[in-house]
Amino acid sequence: MEILQDVKARVYRFGNKVADGNSKMKNLLGGKGANLAEMSAIGMPVPPGFTITTEACTEYNLLGQDAVVERIKAEVESAIANIESLMGTTFGDKENPLLVSVRSGARVSMPGMMDTVLNLGINDDVVLGLVKKTNNEQFAWDSYRRFIQMYGGVVLGMKPASKEDIDPFEEIMEHLKDKRGIKLDTEFTIQDLKDLVYDFKDAVKKQTGHSFPTDPWEQLWGAIIAVFNSWNGDRAVYYRNMHNYPADWGTAVNVQAMVYGNMGNNSGTGVCFTRDAGTGENVFNGEYLINAQGEDVVAGVRTPQQITKLGSQRWAELAKVEEADRAENYPSLEELMPTIFKELDSYQKKLENHYCDMQDMEFTMQDGKLWILQTRNGKRTGAAMVKIAMDLLKEGKIDEKETLLRMQPNKLDELLHPVFDTSALKRAHVIAQGLPASPGAATGKIVFFADEANKFKNSILVRIETSPEDLEGMNIAKGILTARGGMTSHAAVVARGMGKSCISGAGALKINYKTRTLTVDGHEYHEGDWISLNGSTGNIFEGKVETVEPELSGEFGEIMTLSDKYAIMKVRTNADTPKDAKIARNFGAQGIGLTRTEHMFFEVDRIKAMREMILADTVKGRKQALQDLLPMQRSDFEGIFEAMQGFPVTIRLLDPPLHEFVPHQLATQKELADEMHISLQAVKNKVAELEEFNPMLGHRGCRLGNTYPEITEMQTRAIIEAAINLKAKGIVCIPEIMVPLVGTVKEFEYQEQIIRSTAAKIFEERNDTVEFLVGTMIEIPRAALMADKIAELADFFSFGTNDLTQMTFGYSRDDAGKFLPIYIEKGILKVDPFEVLDQEGVGQLVKMGTERGRSVKQHLKVGICGEHGGEPSSVEFFYNTGMDYVSCSPYRVPIARLVSAQAAIKATV
Ligand code: ADP
Ligand code: MG
Ligand code: MG
Repeated sequence: MEILQDVKARVYRFGNKVADGNSKMKNLLGGKGANLAEMSAIGMPVPPGFTITTEACTEYNLLGQDAVVERIKAEVESAIANIESLMGTTFGDKENPLLVSVRSGARVSMPGMMDTVLNLGINDDVVLGLVKKTNNEQFAWDSYRRFIQMYGGVVLGMKPASKEDIDPFEEIMEHLKDKRGIKLDTEFTIQDLKDLVYDFKDAVKKQTGHSFPTDPWEQLWGAIIAVFNSWNGDRAVYYRNMHNYPADWGTAVNVQAMVYGNMGNNSGTGVCFTRDAGTGENVFNGEYLINAQGEDVVAGVRTPQQITKLGSQRWAELAKVEEADRAENYPSLEELMPTIFKELDSYQKKLENHYCDMQDMEFTMQDGKLWILQTRNGKRTGAAMVKIAMDLLKEGKIDEKETLLRMQPNKLDELLHPVFDTSALKRAHVIAQGLPASPGAATGKIVFFADEANKFKNSILVRIETSPEDLEGMNIAKGILTARGGMTSHAAVVARGMGKSCISGAGALKINYKTRTLTVDGHEYHEGDWISLNGSTGNIFEGKVETVEPELSGEFGEIMTLSDKYAIMKVRTNADTPKDAKIARNFGAQGIGLTRTEHMFFEVDRIKAMREMILADTVKGRKQALQDLLPMQRSDFEGIFEAMQGFPVTIRLLDPPLHEFVPHQLATQKELADEMHISLQAVKNKVAELEEFNPMLGHRGCRLGNTYPEITEMQTRAIIEAAINLKAKGIVCIPEIMVPLVGTVKEFEYQEQIIRSTAAKIFEERNDTVEFLVGTMIEIPRAALMADKIAELADFFSFGTNDLTQMTFGYSRDDAGKFLPIYIEKGILKVDPFEVLDQEGVGQLVKMGTERGRSVKQHLKVGICGEHGGEPSSVEFFYNTGMDYVSCSPYRVPIARLVSAQAAIKATV
């Protein structure tokens, strides 16, 4: 810091077509400051000003106010003098005053930073000077009252007294409007404005105990320090933590000469976009207001009008306004001020070409002269993101690699699920919020039990939590809402797999299964009531919010084709049914990385045979039950192989503890006892016997196959026979048989022998053969450590990062919901490691396992099939680890394909 003091400037000037900074300096000047400098340098009409660097903010946080003011005072004063000479006005002058705006601006645009203060430098004397100079008393007093309002709120902390109260200044204005019988701010008379200024100052004195500062320099330093302070305000800190932005970034402060949009009917202000931020359509669009300042357009004080004639006509159509009425009363800027419009249009083109991206701009017209106040790469929907990038590529403005790098992977999600109608969403009432567990819009009637999901045509399954038994109901319901559980809870994982909207862990919900009610904030909802879920944001809405089908536009397909051109690592899918497999194929999956065979056993006709197998006391009994399961399982595999059309299919042998398959309700237990001709007590005993203290660490995975080899035998038979059957139909498939939960070499060896000898037996029986692989999951830390030994026997590895995370951290996936949110809130963990791979810790095991495996078998096929396979930062890590493929749920396949391409591109630059 000491060295900085001597060599580095802390204030960067811009204006009059020159600038000290440029758009590359966002870290130092903030996004807003860097772009103001750039615009100034390329000749845009930007009001002159200066930017105090983010480094000064960091110094302020370390050294305090006095030290920093001392360091920047001279630079600030001379920069103000520079504005004065460019504008021909003087700060604080009574005849010809300069007023400025003070604007915050971090390196990324961030809600929670200080709001802008406009018209700073005004006081009782200066306002008179402004009147004299402009000959516009209305404007001068309007500016003064705006200043006190903004400075009071932002710098002096004049906030509503409680959350039920309104802003103290708004209250005064409302009062006056009532008294005068007027509606709009623009209807105030000069006397009204003078009264408001007086009353505002009075309110400040009463609430803060201090007089409103009249000295312009005192006002300026007050605002600068307030911007610095806002970096550590609650809202900003919250937002920073959410996005992992470090505290030492700091914010810049922009001080800029005011230009006035509130000078009368030849003045105004507006915002515009070079393309449509919702659809991506290449049309210039935006809104403006005549005789208005700053945020009036977005604040909704008055209804703004459209900038282009086309936009205005489209608006009129929606608003059912006749063309004559529109042209007369709601003209576009294009019609009302054609010269200014032409100029603005030329700037928007210039800026978009300059930045090669869609721009979001702010402008102000002062007495017929146009000023540009801000530009930035505009925020956009997923659809717009794709269309804009593809259009820019076709226009030759960016190359293919850049096009792909411009994609925010998670935003593609929006394109894959039904979405809420945006206008309906605006009107909807949010009743609570949970975790955005699985994106998409869902609307339906509340049901509390999975087996009642088909009670209504559209239902939302509302549960405290879900279990494997709920699977069918979850599939029927339009959306799933749970009070408990995290992003990897059963509900969340299953819903994502199904591509179904799900909100989990909505703690505010009190669910009473007995009364079939859901209570939030004292409000009660009943079975059959409509609710709506936005799985992308976690918002839960009252009633029925209209949804629309997403349009998989042509550009989306083009982006995917382009991805595949650059991707090296392949993308497979986790699919348990032919239906899922087909969806994934349509999304471009190049094989299946995980088929969980247990899901096949939950369907009504199978669960019975499964239960009989589990309840059997003898090997013979078990084999008999398995014999019943064999044809069903075989036909499942045939369906999946067929759907994958020659792409590789990895099938995992039975994994979950048997306890999950047995009935836990008395009625079903009785039923089973009757069917099996055994006593109810025998069933109960078996259920009790299967219960485990730590089922996740219990009798599951290959431990099942090693204690009941006949299960492995049956599953192998089903797989190999299915492959041979398909071969006869001309469909080649190379099944990859995967042994779960291996920790020792012997565990794998035993399973491998069963698999290979069973296959050999079938080949003999059928007098035919198929190729197949036998590999293992690496999901127990010990397996990663022993990877070189295991690789001697295994044909492939697939990292099961869910279990690997669970066992490396020692966090039970099913119980982590109790402490993970608190850990994240306290910063003990940055993110949920079940959602985003812990590259630092668990990642070491993944790397080590891969390296050790390949040290023995150079071309060992390595993939990953945990939930992380569809999470962008994890996918990039897997690419860098040298994996052959990632496998994820069908609806994440396009995202993983994109990230695979991005990772490959990033690795070459
Ligand atoms: P935000 O980051 O919230 O957009 P801004 O600093 O951009 O805040 O400013 C808020 C509003 O005030 C914008 O409409 C902007 O155009 C306007 N504004 C900022 N500085 C000036 C200025 N010097 N003259 C006129 N209007 C300004
Ligand atoms: Mg702005
Ligand atoms: Mg596992």
